Amino acid sequence: MCVLLAMAVGSGCAAGGGQATGGAGATGKAGASGAAAAPAHGRERGPSGAPGSSGSPGREARKGGPAGEGDGGTGTREDKGEEGGGKDSAEDGGRRTKGERGEDRERAGEKAAAAEAHAKRTKEIQAARAAAAKRWGLRRTPLPAPPPPGEKPRITTRKGFEVDRHKGLPPVFTTVPTKQKVVFLTIDDGAEKDPELLRMMSELRIPYSAFLSDYVVRDDYGYFERMQGRGVSLHNHTLTHPYLPALPYAKQQAEICGQQAGMEKRFGKRPRLFRPPYGSYNRDTLRAAASCGVKAVPLWAAEAFPDHMEWREWDRDLHPGDIILTHFRGKGEWKGSMPDMIRQVMKVVTEKGYAVARLEDYV
Ligand SMILES: [Zn+2]
Repeated sequence: MCVLLAMAVGSGCAAGGGQATGGAGATGKAGASGAAAAPAHGRERGPSGAPGSSGSPGREARKGGPAGEGDGGTGTREDKGEEGGGKDSAEDGGRRTKGERGEDRERAGEKAAAAEAHAKRTKEIQAARAAAAKRWGLRRTPLPAPPPPGEKPRITTRKGFEVDRHKGLPPVFTTVPTKQKVVFLTIDDGAEKDPELLRMMSELRIPYSAFLSDYVVRDDYGYFERMQGRGVSLHNHTLTHPYLPALPYAKQQAEICGQQAGMEKRFGKRPRLFRPPYGSYNRDTLRAAASCGVKAVPLWAAEAFPDHMEWREWDRDLHPGDIILTHFRGKGEWKGSMPDMIRQVMKVVTEKGYAVARLEDYV
């Protein structure tokens, strides 16, 4: 499907923008990229013509990923909530007995030891990552991400991306609020199932998240089970990848909620995140998504290809918290393999001084 769209639309799989909402685009940073491309099929783009991504249509991203930084863990840490937030000491403020003070000292000692162990582990991980970067032909070693925030940031809908009466509906955003130099990698659709990608990302410890559309995934669910087993979170990208704003509520709900149910059955987990095909949605889309458990709708600020980047923002740059979209595609569909695409996007990310963090630690 992406291929067809790509031909129809110009490039990429997702047709930029077109939320059928009002007022989006144009204003604020949001509309920035210019909705440019019309959604495939030349349908009405919605008043806004808003958020397409930079001139090029679709994109979707990938994020989250294997191994969280630092602890090198692989397991899915989704929903873990506060991560390193230790609550210790300090509950009394009052007098303490000698014994208690001793315990405090002991605890402080343990804390220091833990910090030291963490630093050591980070160093070892970075050394392993440097070796992997060499093996996989990356020009630079990916930077280590900072520890996940103790509390996830409050995410609101990007200005210009709202639908009517948006309040209470899942937020739609392209960048996660953070001051840290981190970006998030998200991969969409699922047509290309390159085993090299799984190995490469695990060895490099680059987190990413996958937004899956059943019609391209169903011929090999096992591939995505293996991905999930490596710590990647799987999210919803509809059953058949339609241009949702053209569908009535009930059909949108069938597309989104059908995929929620299928993914829960197949992968044992109901996705919390949903990305509409082509980044196109209207109020019904968000209502339908909310009705079956979707909490947030991450779009993207930039899209990665094997040979270039496309940007939503005028400054054609990365910003803290930006979500990067790319696709599961092969050589037949674009100019390179999945590893080629990763080499390209990581060159940009690392040279600009960013680390890739795990989306689910922030959203
Ligand atoms: Zn897609």
